[in-house]
Amino acid sequence: MDLSNREVMVSNDLISKCIHCGLCLPTCPTYNLTLNEQSSPRGRIQLMKNVFENKAPISDQFVYEMQFCLDCQACQTACPAGVQYGSLVEEARNLISKSNRESTLYKIFKFIFLKQIIYSSKNLKLVYRVIRIIQNIFNVKIVNQLVFNIFEAFQSTKVFNLFPKVSEKPFDELVSEFLPAYGKANYSVIFPYGCIMNLVFSKTQNDTVEVLRHAGCNVIIPKNQSCCGSLHKHNGEIGDAKNLAKQNIILFNKYKFDYLIQNSSGCGAFMKEYGNLFQDDDRFSETAITFSKKCKDFSEFLVGIKYNPPNRELNQKITYHDACHLIHSQSISKEPRQLISLLNKNGYVELNEASWCCGSAGIYNVTHTKDSLEILDRKMDNLINTQADIVITNNPGCLLQLEYGIKKRKLNMKAMHLATLLNNLYQ
Ligand code: SF4
Ligand code: SF4
Repeated sequence: MDLSNREVMVSNDLISKCIHCGLCLPTCPTYNLTLNEQSSPRGRIQLMKNVFENKAPISDQFVYEMQFCLDCQACQTACPAGVQYGSLVEEARNLISKSNRESTLYKIFKFIFLKQIIYSSKNLKLVYRVIRIIQNIFNVKIVNQLVFNIFEAFQSTKVFNLFPKVSEKPFDELVSEFLPAYGKANYSVIFPYGCIMNLVFSKTQNDTVEVLRHAGCNVIIPKNQSCCGSLHKHNGEIGDAKNLAKQNIILFNKYKFDYLIQNSSGCGAFMKEYGNLFQDDDRFSETAITFSKKCKDFSEFLVGIKYNPPNRELNQKITYHDACHLIHSQSISKEPRQLISLLNKNGYVELNEASWCCGSAGIYNVTHTKDSLEILDRKMDNLINTQADIVITNNPGCLLQLEYGIKKRKLNMKAMHLATLLNNLYQ
């Protein structure tokens, strides 16, 4: 199965920008793990060029390297020539999936997790209810032990306490569809509650909405939302990603709103891409572009409206980890720091290598557990050096990964979403 002519032209155009300078190599976590050129951005671009130009087959090595990549896009930020590496690797994964070249285990995992569970909000809720019952009856430790055994069997990797405790109630079942601003309303915003966030981070979702209400927003939380599709897009399932994106755009456009506010960086980055996703669809392209323009990250929005947090003293030492899809895909790094420094000028400590991936990377910590944990170790060493009480990050995957690292190292540190830090000041 080949890429379409248009896809080939776009990919070749992106690839031809690479001037082979190698400035991306020191920023690449997988190159750092292996010191192997083929596991670097430049090496992978060469592999893609050969395959996209039909000069090489889709070999096992090609499949391995495209899946070994975290899609963290640190190389994109480092690149002086503007190579859009994220689009390239996702195109390559799409080609691998269309060509049926993924391993059987990977295909089974994708089929069950991405196509059956995450794709359908009904199935996702069903799985959530089963997990919650098991966790309530047998407690989280027993569920973790089970997951631990499965991981060990398949990945020869020691993990512990990997599985998060799901929320007692999904966020969407706790709130009504319309929540008015506290005081004067200046904006009307949509809040997409997401798939996993809705079930595991119910409190973070509530904190986000509360801060938005304090910031002068009427918040609309449409029922029956779907996953944004980012996990599907990043893992080569572009068709599924487009279907989910379309469902969400149609649902959200039934409401009158100024902005859509995302508190998950992976989802936010992808929603800002909806406009590009439908560029070949004459009937939907304009709608998707207009929709994407209204999408804002939580911190980007608050800084944009000159939000003032409550004037309360925070005595804890705080640091910040940049989520890849916030800093590298959306170029947002100053805004969260700006908000944190409003709260805690003297207690902020910058994290060394703050923009180095934590190893979570969507489903990477499940499909490449050993590599993911090695990458996490570097992050944890840097976090320990800060001696911070709280590490702030704006992505659910990073939160889970950092919480895991904190538990594993037995640290007296909390991983927290920026929205929680802000909402705590209103209590
Ligand atoms: S996306 Fe990340 S892991 Fe992949 S090549 Fe670029 S820097 Fe390396
Ligand atoms: S930094 Fe950009 S131009 Fe240089 S090798 Fe990496 S991808 Fe190519």
